[in-house]
Amino acid sequence: MAESPARGVAYHPGRNGSAGRTRPHADAGLAHLITELQGHGLRVEVPLESRQGGAGPADAGMLWIDGFAATVPTSAEYVRASPYVLRAEDDGWGVYRDGERLASAEPFQRPRYYDLSTADGVPYWQIALLHLDSLASTVIQTCAYWGNSDQCTFCGIGVTLANGRTIARKTPRMLAEVAVAAKELDGAVDATLTTGTTATPDKGALYVARCGQAVREAAGLPVEVQFEPPRDLAVIDQVRDLGINSVGIHVESFDPQVLARVAPAKARTGIDGYFRAWERAVAAFGEGQVSTYVILGMGEDPELTVAGCRRAIDIGVYPFVVPLRPTVGSLMEHMAAPSPEYCETIYRRVVPYLTARGLGAHGVAAGCARCQACSAMSLLEGSVQTDGRTYLPLLSDR
Ligand code: SF4
Repeated sequence: MAESPARGVAYHPGRNGSAGRTRPHADAGLAHLITELQGHGLRVEVPLESRQGGAGPADAGMLWIDGFAATVPTSAEYVRASPYVLRAEDDGWGVYRDGERLASAEPFQRPRYYDLSTADGVPYWQIALLHLDSLASTVIQTCAYWGNSDQCTFCGIGVTLANGRTIARKTPRMLAEVAVAAKELDGAVDATLTTGTTATPDKGALYVARCGQAVREAAGLPVEVQFEPPRDLAVIDQVRDLGINSVGIHVESFDPQVLARVAPAKARTGIDGYFRAWERAVAAFGEGQVSTYVILGMGEDPELTVAGCRRAIDIGVYPFVVPLRPTVGSLMEHMAAPSPEYCETIYRRVVPYLTARGLGAHGVAAGCARCQACSAMSLLEGSVQTDGRTYLPLLSDR
């Protein structure tokens, strides 16, 4: 476990940033509402800070709903049909459906450090963005699979680069400088660093870990780094030796047929290959400090999905289950997001198992599984009894 205090879902009573605050429990209605928003999206009547493109599943507006961090689709085409709208009120903002106010909302404020630049003129926001309270960067914004038959169909890593919203390669020094500013000016509580896959045996793991080391040493923030399973699993130990707190090694889907279709290169590693990497990583970083994205809505078999999540939990891996966000510019840009009912059903079959195993967002030192804003699953953690049963109805009437 890292030196940072244990934290759960980012809870935000003030400006961006939530370090050291205790998480209140979300109620059933809020968990359901956020699942709904992440499925249907939120129509916005105000400009909202958002993430578009980037590695992995992206496209998200960022805001706080009843004080809880959430990322929700705001710019995809299907969002225009969403029944949910973000509206200005006399004193703040609210989420509405059919004229009924469902929750208070606070759009994420533009971080102060976005106004700064490095000595050689690179704007800080092109180096790393603040995702609510987590500093996030794709340290190498190119991928060996981008633009060829191995490209992950949900990914938008090349989109951001083509739009000039970032630079191709961030150095450890740049990231350290930005991390200090993000912590001091905007209350960043951790750093989440990912990378496109490199055509080297370590797949980029060592470079992103060196970037993470620089951030930790300069800003004292806990760091998660994300990479594909390296050819030689000893690389994972080298990542730990650089002082990294948590790792994300993302299988994306536990359905082998879906994996072959959406991420051909990852499918060659194979699901068992991911389990071998995770076992090594859990031995290096500890239970709960290793996570994997599991994306819902790509045609996967729900039984294989739940079984895969539970098998991962059994070895101490946190499966971070998220709905697909069809990213503009990705090969899946015209797909629809999965239904909120489907996502909620999967969350409710995975979260009790996690809780029974003693794992939860509260124990994750850094990264996506710590932040939790892209999924509603951890909102259910507080509703699960220690015997692993949920006491919430399957669907609330909200
Ligand atoms: S490995 Fe896949 S998800 Fe990761 S950056 Fe490359 S194309 Fe995107």
